[in-house]
Amino acid sequence: MYWEKQLETIPREELSLLQAERLQKTIINAQKTSFYRRLFARNNIDPEKIKSPEDLKVIPPTTKADLREGFPFDFLAVPLEEVIRLHSSSGTTGTPTVIYYTASDLDRWTNQVARSLYAVGMRKNDVFQNMMSYGLFTGGLGMHYGAERLGALTIPIGAGNSKRQIWFLKFFKSTAIHIIPSYALLLAQLIKAEGLDPHQDFNIRIMLLGAEPHSEETRLRIEEIYGAKAYNSYGLSEVNGPGVAFECVFQEGMHLWEDYYILEILNPQTLSPTPLGEVGEIVLTTIYRDATPLIRYRTGDLAFLLEEPCPCGRTHQRISRIQGRTDDMFIFRGVNIFPMQIEKVLMSNPEVGNNYRIILEREDYRDKMMVEVEIKPELFSGDLQKLARLKERIQSELHSEILVTPEVVLVEPGSIPTSEGKIQRVIDRRPL
Ligand code: AMP
Ligand code: ZN
Repeated sequence: MYWEKQLETIPREELSLLQAERLQKTIINAQKTSFYRRLFARNNIDPEKIKSPEDLKVIPPTTKADLREGFPFDFLAVPLEEVIRLHSSSGTTGTPTVIYYTASDLDRWTNQVARSLYAVGMRKNDVFQNMMSYGLFTGGLGMHYGAERLGALTIPIGAGNSKRQIWFLKFFKSTAIHIIPSYALLLAQLIKAEGLDPHQDFNIRIMLLGAEPHSEETRLRIEEIYGAKAYNSYGLSEVNGPGVAFECVFQEGMHLWEDYYILEILNPQTLSPTPLGEVGEIVLTTIYRDATPLIRYRTGDLAFLLEEPCPCGRTHQRISRIQGRTDDMFIFRGVNIFPMQIEKVLMSNPEVGNNYRIILEREDYRDKMMVEVEIKPELFSGDLQKLARLKERIQSELHSEILVTPEVVLVEPGSIPTSEGKIQRVIDRRPL
């Protein structure tokens, strides 16, 4: 059931003590970085007074911009010769955000991933095909070492090259895969194009979906196509990488490993804690990492806390799936909209295919939203009236969800550009 029973099921009071102890060490360590030395001095913070998670609120949160400005070494707390690896955030242009790891940081992170994989039922007899990009991005190496520690046969195939992916899946009968959700849908189409069935002709039983927001509806769809269980896996390179929070077999929210991180969910505007169950920004303090301590790091990811204890017995709090980013929310004619709201509506329609995108334009000073939606191949060449009705239905469902009516355009399956990396869902062509 558990990789480390004692730590995973630790009573909350004991967990608080453990957090307090690790936090104190972290604060002492953070003073070795020039960024936190300056931050503490500027804000008259007495590090001695930071004894428990509640004391953290006097420290201003750290942002991605701080990390960029602090490039390359302002966040480094150990001598460079202690550092054995670095990673960097994906998709960034310009100065990267770089995180350094000591040998013990890597060892702990590996353990965190192994624990997460064990929680979804992966075991040493699994064959694990890691379809994430290896390199600076943490999804490749991070998951790789965790799977090896678990003892699974780990195939470091990396992202892309779908034909080869399919060949390996078939030949080695891979039972577990790590994959970006949009690529899982694309790969299924390519598998079908080869005359194979993702469920019947393969042995996949566990899928780890990470790196990209996706709705519950998308997960269900992926599970159905592959005949496998798909688990949500959350992480970000600034805070180690994969394994920060992970679903267990109950698939209801992700356990955030609180012996590694102190979790806060804050209102992104006021930075005060959001009421329980309300969406806010995930803010994390690393308490089990030496080379790059981060205190109150604003992830930009939005989620809410689940209240009930999980039936699996793990005591670490659960967060909801990521509801969006503080920065992918877009404002349309004054209305705040998350792409995920649109995705939910689209994916609940069985006629809808696997891809969509939202295009924002401005005409005569008026915002226009177009939602391009791929539909299933069998419908595309079919009855025009039926298509018109489908379009109208989706438009009205979207209206009830987001309170504006976008122009829905039903397009041919495969016509929206896909990618083997993270997909861009919103194309905003409006002038600033
Ligand atoms: P990176 O630092 O390149 O690993 O990107 C991390 C970001 O990817 C996070 O801050 C999230 O915005 C996003 N992300 C990672 N995992 C998930 C997930 N399971 N669901 C939604 N978004 C995710
Ligand atoms: Zn659980």
